[in-house]
Amino acid sequence: MADEIADVCLVGVGMVGGILAKELATAGLKVVGFERGAALTREDYAVRDSIHFVVRNALLDWVRHEPTTFRNSPDQRAVLQFPTTNALGGRMLTWTGQSARFSPDDFKVFSGEIASGVAARAGADLAGYEIYDWPIGYDDLEPYYERYEWEFGVAGGGDPNPFAGPRRRGYPLPPLRTSARMELFEQACKKLGYHPYQSAAGILSQPYRPAAPYDSRIEERTACAYCGHCNFYGCHVGAKTSALETVIPVALSTGNVDLHTNSKVFRINSDDSGKITGVSYFTPQREIKEQRARVVILCGFVFENARLMLLSENKGKAGLANSSGAVGKGVFAHADLHTTGLFDDYLINGFIGPNSAAIRMDDFNGNNFDHTGLGFIRGGAFATGGDGTPVQRYDNIPPGIRRWGKEYKEFLAHAYTRTFSISATTEALPHSDNLIDIDPDHKDDWGIPVPRVTFAFKQNERKLQRHFLALGETLMRGTGASKVWQSRLPNFGSRWAGGIRMGADPKTSVVNGYGQSHDIDNLFVMGASVFPTLTGYPATATISALAYRTAEYIMGQRDWFK
Ligand SMILES: Cc1cc2nc3c(=O)[nH]c(=O)nc-3n(C[C@H](O)[C@H](O)[C@H](O)COP(=O)(O)OP(=O)(O)OC[C@H]3O[C@@H](n4cnc5c(N)ncnc54)[C@H](O)[C@@H]3O)c2cc1C
Ligand code: SF4
Repeated sequence: MADEIADVCLVGVGMVGGILAKELATAGLKVVGFERGAALTREDYAVRDSIHFVVRNALLDWVRHEPTTFRNSPDQRAVLQFPTTNALGGRMLTWTGQSARFSPDDFKVFSGEIASGVAARAGADLAGYEIYDWPIGYDDLEPYYERYEWEFGVAGGGDPNPFAGPRRRGYPLPPLRTSARMELFEQACKKLGYHPYQSAAGILSQPYRPAAPYDSRIEERTACAYCGHCNFYGCHVGAKTSALETVIPVALSTGNVDLHTNSKVFRINSDDSGKITGVSYFTPQREIKEQRARVVILCGFVFENARLMLLSENKGKAGLANSSGAVGKGVFAHADLHTTGLFDDYLINGFIGPNSAAIRMDDFNGNNFDHTGLGFIRGGAFATGGDGTPVQRYDNIPPGIRRWGKEYKEFLAHAYTRTFSISATTEALPHSDNLIDIDPDHKDDWGIPVPRVTFAFKQNERKLQRHFLALGETLMRGTGASKVWQSRLPNFGSRWAGGIRMGADPKTSVVNGYGQSHDIDNLFVMGASVFPTLTGYPATATISALAYRTAEYIMGQRDWFK
């Protein structure tokens, strides 16, 4: 399709790119997909080798050649970080599998908590934050959450979460098996009067193939073997859901997708009127080529989406679709706070089973609790999930234990099977100091400047995090642990989002509720980039729902493709 004009060009064929490729190609559109990583096979990504995947980060290898840089404040020199995965199918290949819908309140933080007076009653200092409601709500996404859950295969159910939004249908698969860590945490939550529930997981608890009205072209996959090697690895039996084993094969089977792997897009091109005309990319042999397209969709994840928009030119000016000046602004991430308990007389064996087989508790998520006088708004989710293989836990040592030698070895040998952690996934709000721009000092292997993230948790987050450490300690003591210790407050986030805000007002946002640029009709941005605010839940279910919804919107624009 190189010399033809594609209907749609996808920049990045990870999870979002996979969904869009399947949906749009099935509707008969000619899709060209560029993926800077390779097309891996199970032999590449599913070997049970902790040193290879966890210590040496093998799946991040390509990213080493084009890193992101990071600093906490403008007076620091940004240092190199490798926070993403480059491979066909994207980060879902190595994800943990926690699957959560956002709750209805999460889409309305401005009106629900600032305009309504919650923030004032809390005494929250929100100076410097830029908080806007989403232009869409839970009800707009509900049917698409369902599509994602039934096509990718999500296990859930059991005790309902009283804080969840309404669902039209249950889950396609029953919940995963429980384990000692889950039972201990659940009992402690109940004892303290909270509402624990088994969180949903993108992991098959039984063999599964979607049936109509969902996409029955997705092949049957087998059930989880509870090997405990989910996080940072691919699944060796295909039970952990991934774009590579669901939507991407179906997209390719349509014959309407021209897929280029090991091919990196470095610029989005436009004509004198400002309309997008296509992209420029490096072939695997590093030749520069151009692909023309009627519609371009950026699906390269948070850092790369912002980088491409900042590096491309439009109407002779640097930057794309940036009349609001908001491109790259308002980037945010979770802080993960861990509280670990040691049980001298009780075997936990926390390494068993998938990390995402978890009990979660939302009593302190979002606006689910009374914030009066707390000094902050929003919250986070408490959960206990899988505790990982030995190399993932070598540094989870309580104060007072030496970190080398005999004492260290004896402690690890005793504690590895007798500990588990409760994690609090706490929310960050978008702050005007937290942004992605272009690093003036570092270039990637192709000579292109890399994205630079400037990010620090600010006053609302720090108060919230201290509150959550205290709650985490109370919860862990409630399990009966003989020794309890906690992680420090982090300076780096997990699960990044923001930077290309969606919103109703083109003056303060870059894209609309479909991820379509306010400035340029035929440019879309997808993924967590477009989130105006976060929540204590992981993002993938919401990202997927947005992608299904946008695919439907684009398919409705038949005039664009005549
Ligand atoms: C270890 C780990 C655990 C996780 N656990 C969870 C979890 O439990 N629950 C949850 O909800 N989420 C989790 N996530 C996050 C989840 O994986 C992401 O939300 C999801 O993959 C995002 O999809 P995406 O398509 O936006 O981005 P990605 O899946 O990252 O895909 C982006 C793709 O674009 C490609 N690309 C980027 N730039 C270019 C370019 N210039 N040219 C060509 N290609 C490009 C990349 O190589 C990549 O393949 C986890 C992530 C990781 C890494
Ligand atoms: S725990 Fe289950 S889903 Fe995770 S890698 Fe093992 S078999 Fe796959």
